[in-house]
Amino acid sequence: MNEIIKYQEIDKKLRQLEGELNSSLNRKNAAEMQQYLKDGQAKLIRLEESAKNLTEQYQKALKLYNEFVAKLEILSKNVESVETGKIDELEAIIQNYNKMSENLDNNINILGGRIASITKEYENIISNAKKARHNLEIYKSNFNKEKEKLEPEILKLKEEKSKQKAKVDPKLLAKYNAKFESKIFPVFVPETRGGCGGCRMEIPAGKMSQLKANGMVECENCGRIIYVKE
Ligand SMILES: [Zn+2]
Repeated sequence: MNEIIKYQEIDKKLRQLEGELNSSLNRKNAAEMQQYLKDGQAKLIRLEESAKNLTEQYQKALKLYNEFVAKLEILSKNVESVETGKIDELEAIIQNYNKMSENLDNNINILGGRIASITKEYENIISNAKKARHNLEIYKSNFNKEKEKLEPEILKLKEEKSKQKAKVDPKLLAKYNAKFESKIFPVFVPETRGGCGGCRMEIPAGKMSQLKANGMVECENCGRIIYVKE
């Protein structure tokens, strides 16, 4: 019985230290920064895609606009040499072209604005990522310091635990592991003033005589193994 209690004590200390490392704020923050950078990366890819599309549209619109302007110039020159009867027709065409190039000009401005805002967003992400990467390095190095501090103790306890394991009755160890698997910890608790040392519930008379006869009994309430403290 003593050996499994010793084993449990070592295991408890070990899990405490491991838990401390796992719940480290530096570790959590580093993970958050990593996620942030990953999200930022995905966003950049999407922005690049949009910027590419918009730039293509922009260039097409610009090309079209330049073509209109060139045609307008030619038409305007023709006004002087055209027959009197055809002047109205030609002016209507010119007006039409003017209107279309105005529309194109508007579209070009809108596209240009969108490209500019995407570029700005892109630059923001890059600059935030720079900060996030810097913070990530700090959190990582802080966490490594924590790890360096706790790891020797953890290694020592692991060694102790495996040495102690060899001394423990395999049946008790199997019970311990099974209870531990079902989230019961500590598994072995002493009888305390006629009650369970884990949940404090009073041990019924029947169980009490079982405890006295076998040295241990399972608590009806919390499932822990109650033992008699020597
Ligand atoms: Zn109990």
